Amino acid sequence: MAVSALNNNSAETKHLQSLANPTHVALHQLWELQKARAASNRTAGTEWRKTLLKKLYAAIELFEIRLTDAVFQDFGRVETETRIVEIYPLLTEIQFNLKNIEKWTKQHSAGRTIMTLTAKAWTKAEPKGVSLIISPWNYPIFLTLGPLISAIAAGCTAILKTSELTPKVSVVLQELVRDAFLPEEAAVVLGDAQSSQALLDLPFDHIFFTGSTQVGSIIMQRAAQHLSSVTLELGGKSPVIVDETANLKDAAKKVVWAKFVNAGQTCIAPDFVMVHHAVQKRFCEALIAEVMRAYSDKAPHHDLAKIVSERHYTRLKKAVEEAIGMGAEALLPVQAHDEQRAISPTLLLNVSQEALLMREEIFGPVLPIKTYTNMSDLVHYLSTMPSGKPLAMYIFSESEVHQERLLAEVSAGGVCINDCLIHLVHKRLPFGGVNQSGIGKSKGEYGFWEFSNRKAVIKQKSGLAPFSLFFPPYTEEVKKRLDWLFKLKI
Ligand code: NAD
Repeated sequence: MAVSALNNNSAETKHLQSLANPTHVALHQLWELQKARAASNRTAGTEWRKTLLKKLYAAIELFEIRLTDAVFQDFGRVETETRIVEIYPLLTEIQFNLKNIEKWTKQHSAGRTIMTLTAKAWTKAEPKGVSLIISPWNYPIFLTLGPLISAIAAGCTAILKTSELTPKVSVVLQELVRDAFLPEEAAVVLGDAQSSQALLDLPFDHIFFTGSTQVGSIIMQRAAQHLSSVTLELGGKSPVIVDETANLKDAAKKVVWAKFVNAGQTCIAPDFVMVHHAVQKRFCEALIAEVMRAYSDKAPHHDLAKIVSERHYTRLKKAVEEAIGMGAEALLPVQAHDEQRAISPTLLLNVSQEALLMREEIFGPVLPIKTYTNMSDLVHYLSTMPSGKPLAMYIFSESEVHQERLLAEVSAGGVCINDCLIHLVHKRLPFGGVNQSGIGKSKGEYGFWEFSNRKAVIKQKSGLAPFSLFFPPYTEEVKKRLDWLFKLKI
């Protein structure tokens, strides 16, 4: 079907948006529609991008209750937590983009160099075009609409593929996007891996994927077919280091919040703790006290989200049983409620290195605590983990020497010193991993650049230009000039 045959209000367009298991043909039509729009976006100014961002802001406010309800129905996360971890960050991200869009899109002078002395040079952001955003289930609102904010700010159109594991949220997101945008601006496609696979057949200008490292690798392979650029926001094992100088009570409080928010189903959740042997006992006591304070007054752990699916729940339960079977000590009774897919905050001391919990990303409310005795061993361990470079590293220490050493010697996507998660909250910090934990950065200006091409432009004057002094034929005069240039060392 020709693009022109699909007008905004046509039955076909509405049909396209409501498809839960879209066919290749339907997806191609949607992509064509967006391709045409992306072409006209190139010459449009920034005002319409701001208009779209404001529409998105209003839609989030309008759908807020339905969104938080849907999250609760899908995996039991309470409304207050969803407002803290998804709604508030989205609204501030929109405000931040609205404030800075002019600055990010404006032309930046690159100055002059000796060989281009007569020319003016600059860089300018141009939209990449049609983008595909594939999101996971664990922060389904923030991780779908967050990249969309960057796409809109950059002038791209976007097809969003949400997760099949949060079906209720996905449907509300589809309605929200339909309410705020025309399908050629942004549209949500529902479905599972099959939907993603069908979308990946299309030649997107950029693919922004958030999810597991395994699927990230598939996405990159599929993107290579069309040489689509990619942003991969992946997972991994994010360590917490608690040294002998740390404020243990403060560390315990922050680690417990960061670990058990969303029941540990957070990409940058502390995955495990490495605590110095001299303070291990006191740190464990502080952790137990904090878990009791935060989660034990309401039964059964009212404020703790549920595990998203039966498969994940069974995986976690088995991993805990395996670790205990291999000698780990549970610091609190482990309680699992099968009907609710709920697991109580679980603290495990001395988990074997061979246990699944130490080999794979945990992604649940289970915290292994291991001890170390010297910094060199710790650095070696953290920088050679088979799971790869962590997405985040958390250092609790009052020693500048320890902090500096870990910062210098261990690679990680992001680091917090004496806190957890807050590097994601800071508006002017990039967020993302490195190699196995991710490629590219998101949020704010960094997110904007993922969806933009930094176009290099140089405008020369007609006539004599320095570079022409070196054109052939390569006479003695040219060689002398070249010798002179080499001596200048500029
Ligand atoms: P997932 O990789 O299983 O799924 C993510 C998305 O990819 C979903 O939309 C899914 O439908 C799709 N998908 C699944 N298999 C696919 C395939 N074979 N081909 C194409 N698409 C496919 O991840 P998940 O279980 O939804 O989320 C949990 C993972 O995401 C964890 O590893 C977590 O660390 C990671 N994560 C990372 C970040 C980050 O910002 N770095 C944020 C949240 C979650």
